[in-house]
Amino acid sequence: MTSPGSRDVVIIGASLAGLFAAAAAATSGSRTMIIERDVLPDSPVARKGVPQGRQPHVLLHRGLLAAEKLIPGIREDLLSHGAVPFDTGTMAWLGEYGWLPTWIPAYETVSATRPLLEHLVRKRVRELDGVTLREGVRVTELQRDARNWHVVCDDATIVRADVVIDASGRGSRLPLGRAADPGCSPRLCVPNVSSHWGAADRVWGGDSSHPGDRPERARHPGRRRPLARRRRWVWRPATDA
Ligand SMILES: Cc1cc2nc3c(=O)[nH]c(=O)nc-3n(C[C@H](O)[C@H](O)[C@H](O)COP(=O)(O)OP(=O)(O)OC[C@H]3O[C@@H](n4cnc5c(N)ncnc54)[C@H](O)[C@@H]3O)c2cc1C
Repeated sequence: MTSPGSRDVVIIGASLAGLFAAAAAATSGSRTMIIERDVLPDSPVARKGVPQGRQPHVLLHRGLLAAEKLIPGIREDLLSHGAVPFDTGTMAWLGEYGWLPTWIPAYETVSATRPLLEHLVRKRVRELDGVTLREGVRVTELQRDARNWHVVCDDATIVRADVVIDASGRGSRLPLGRAADPGCSPRLCVPNVSSHWGAADRVWGGDSSHPGDRPERARHPGRRRPLARRRRWVWRPATDA
């Protein structure tokens, strides 16, 4: 149930940032609409809007705690769908100075595919009171008057909103934020938030059970981590560490 006088929130993008933002907005009793340009799959498969979705992913400990707070039970949900929990202290990391010790307990991490995580989070968010998800619709522009935002979509609809959250990813081409509109009132406008960070991984597998045997190791020192599937390894260049 939304409370009288609650705000209308529009979220652009139904990937993980958008879905978790919707879960947070739902706790405040807002009416929340997520607008996503992709037609969303009803199974855990990669999709066009998240090209890195095919890359191996793990849910780190702090992320897991935050996810569990917004969507209680999501950890159990993941495990019951085949995600693999493991202690990061037992992870095989091969770095510039050799193998890290694997016997010091650290934090729990959940290894799951990116599509599975998104699929389960999306399923739970769809069930939240006050949240609707419009898919197959691309936001093209944001307009505003003295009080409200107007979210312009490529199906010729315009959605009014008190708050707009741009979760359209780092590749977004939407002209949003204070920089895009110097006259924007601080009440309506929030500066963009960037992690200023990027990553590139490479996966390889085969018969070798020891990734240090691979010739790539000698040429490109980097970090390795195991995947949920056996005999597959991730190589991440040391320069992004
Ligand atoms: C190689 C690699 C490995 C990674 N490994 C991990 C990992 O192990 N653990 C981890 O937590 N993270 C990992 N990440 C990061 C993680 O994948 C991203 O941080 C995450 O997907 C970002 O989510 P997002 O919701 O911000 O944006 P995105 O996933 O980019 O989603 C943006 C969404 O907005 C939609 N959209 C875009 N424009 C519009 C529009 N105009 N109108 C409507 N919808 C729009 C898109 O279709 C998409 O659904 C990795 C990333 C890479 C590249």
